[in-house]
Amino acid sequence: METILKIENLYKNYGAVKAVKNVSLEIKKGNVYGILGPNGSGKSTTLGIVLNVVNKTSGEYSWFGGKMETHEALKKVGAIIERPNFYPYMTAEQNLKLVCKIKGTNYAKIHEKLEIVGLLDRKNSKFRTFSLGMKQRLAIASALLNDPEILILDEPTNGLDPQGIRQIRDIINLIASQGTTILLASHLLDEVEKVCSHVLILRKGEILYSGEVGGMNSKDGFFELISDNLSDLKVALEQHPAIENTSEENGKITAFTNTNLEASELNRYLASKNIFLNHLVKRKHSLEEQFLELTKNN
Ligand code: ADP
Ligand code: MG
Repeated sequence: METILKIENLYKNYGAVKAVKNVSLEIKKGNVYGILGPNGSGKSTTLGIVLNVVNKTSGEYSWFGGKMETHEALKKVGAIIERPNFYPYMTAEQNLKLVCKIKGTNYAKIHEKLEIVGLLDRKNSKFRTFSLGMKQRLAIASALLNDPEILILDEPTNGLDPQGIRQIRDIINLIASQGTTILLASHLLDEVEKVCSHVLILRKGEILYSGEVGGMNSKDGFFELISDNLSDLKVALEQHPAIENTSEENGKITAFTNTNLEASELNRYLASKNIFLNHLVKRKHSLEEQFLELTKNN
């Protein structure tokens, strides 16, 4: 499958604030990716970097296999990272005509894109008369005008009522079903579950999970471990193929697993490395609980 965007070991510091820490992600054509995390976890910063509006501190990213310059590549990207902003006294159609002129796109696309976002019957209404949900849908139509390879959305349902949220999610699913790759940032677990095939979970700028949404669901659980030598324990855990990642807090290590690893099996493995535990508990969580667990203390 063709790679649309590859992010490798990305870091961003705003002064003393470490907003993004070692984030990597590969986006393949045709999938729907979610960046999930609570407020302040680095979602918008990550999107801003790959869209060339925020300067990275270190790390790399490349668009379309690195075959073209970022500014050329971004012509094939549709992105909505701010609140929709159009001319209030112009109609939906007039606003999109202006966007077509700027992007050098044929006006013929306007009809098709307004239809996708369910605004065809409101094309002659002035932008200022639109609800927030309609404004957001017009922004999506605008971003789609030049048939981008990928659509990037930052918190697309923020501030919308339940009906507005439902409409945006249906539109995202429709666009995805037509083959457009999507990258969406959200702090809402159920949003990511409902529309995404893949998810990157961030907490305080760090990756806590990366993989298929289904994989997150079938994740068997996590272990709580304490040993006299926590750093050796951490190293050994990270070498174990079934351990996805670890975090350390209050003298205790939490290790997340993606497979059906048994506590006794893990205990035997650690003992073989001369690591003896004072404490070992395996916990299972629902997806919702896992997410809250992953993102607590934020
Ligand atoms: P999210 O989109 O997940 O809510 P952000 O990427 O907006 O997270 O923010 C990540 C962290 O970086 C937060 O601690 C935030 O306060 C900080 N941050 C974001 N933008 C700036 C900025 N322009 N200057 C300083 N700090 C910033
Ligand atoms: Mg944000």
